[in-house]
Amino acid sequence: MSASPRVVSLTPAVFHLPEAVNEVSRTYGESPIVPRGPRLRPLLDKVRRGIVEAIGAAQHEAVLMTGTGSTAIAAVLGSCLREDERLLVIRNGAYGDRILEYARILRQPVEDMCLPYGERPDLGKIEEALAGGDVSAIAMVYGGTSSCTLNPVPEVGALAKRYGKKLLVDGVSALFVEPMDLDAWGIAAVMGSCNKGLHSHPNLTMALVRRDLLEEMERIPPRVPNLELYKAWRAQAGGAHPYTIDPMSLCQVSAALDHLSQIGGVPGRHAIYRQRCEILRPGYERLGLTIARWEGMPLQSIGTALHFPAGRTYEQMAMRLATEPVEGHVFEIYAAQGKLSDKLFRIFHMGEYPLEAYEIFLKALARVV
Ligand SMILES: *Cc1c(COP(=O)(O)O)cnc(C)c1O
Repeated sequence: MSASPRVVSLTPAVFHLPEAVNEVSRTYGESPIVPRGPRLRPLLDKVRRGIVEAIGAAQHEAVLMTGTGSTAIAAVLGSCLREDERLLVIRNGAYGDRILEYARILRQPVEDMCLPYGERPDLGKIEEALAGGDVSAIAMVYGGTSSCTLNPVPEVGALAKRYGKKLLVDGVSALFVEPMDLDAWGIAAVMGSCNKGLHSHPNLTMALVRRDLLEEMERIPPRVPNLELYKAWRAQAGGAHPYTIDPMSLCQVSAALDHLSQIGGVPGRHAIYRQRCEILRPGYERLGLTIARWEGMPLQSIGTALHFPAGRTYEQMAMRLATEPVEGHVFEIYAAQGKLSDKLFRIFHMGEYPLEAYEIFLKALARVV
């Protein structure tokens, strides 16, 4: 038997997947599904229904696309807004920056609420912007992957409801792990992905769009070719897709949805991730590490941002964790993003790993901090 160490991914996007998803990857080639043939429709139907059922969204439709979470950001911004709607972008992390970047490329009129990374948005200021100005929509991230914190989306959603504004949420890192009540929170559209909380591959992505917004979108000209959500939704409701879509990826997502349902759906997955937090966070503190926290911002359950220990750099720690096995395991970590990368590093605990892997990781971390 080879003794090569097991690689544990402590990153947020690519990690070990459920065995049922891997089984699809191994066997799909024996009986490929033709994208315009009769076997596509039941698969598309099952995946689209499975997504809304898993999220528990009664008023939203799932629209699938080829791509990753960023594709979903582009699709939602480019399909859900009229070109003259002023968009309030609330940003306190790298993906809020991306929303602004994409909105600017689309020449969307924007009101930019730019905060230091991790800082809680001020609800009073948001209300002022909604009450006074000509803002008609809001875009923000729920799970802030740069800071590993959760933004106050339910609170902003209550304001969006009160003032009748369209709320667009980047739920890429939160969907399928953090419970999200799209209806109660007043979310008009969510940008999602299949390779984070859903535990599938980064080939397909999704948006969840509320039906009243879909009706409105019939009259909104799309501004991003190939990512026209209304057109894709119409086609998918009819069992097709306007472009080639990868049926193997659909099969993988279908298997990932079945697996999610077997472990108790989003509450089940959330509980597993919380158990990992309960092992890791006290472990970090025992090692003398400081968890990055911001007032009024709960920590996300997919990972933890930590301050660098004195005298250590990301490169040194990452290299040693990846190359020096501890109890047969090596670990791949991720640098912090953008403005925080010189202060923080992040440890994500996503994917299909037993709790034991995290106990071993703490031992490996103890050697490098
Ligand atoms: C991962 C992520 C994205 C998408 O990033 P990709 O590079 O397209 O995978 C978008 N928003 C958030 C909050 C994310 O965590």
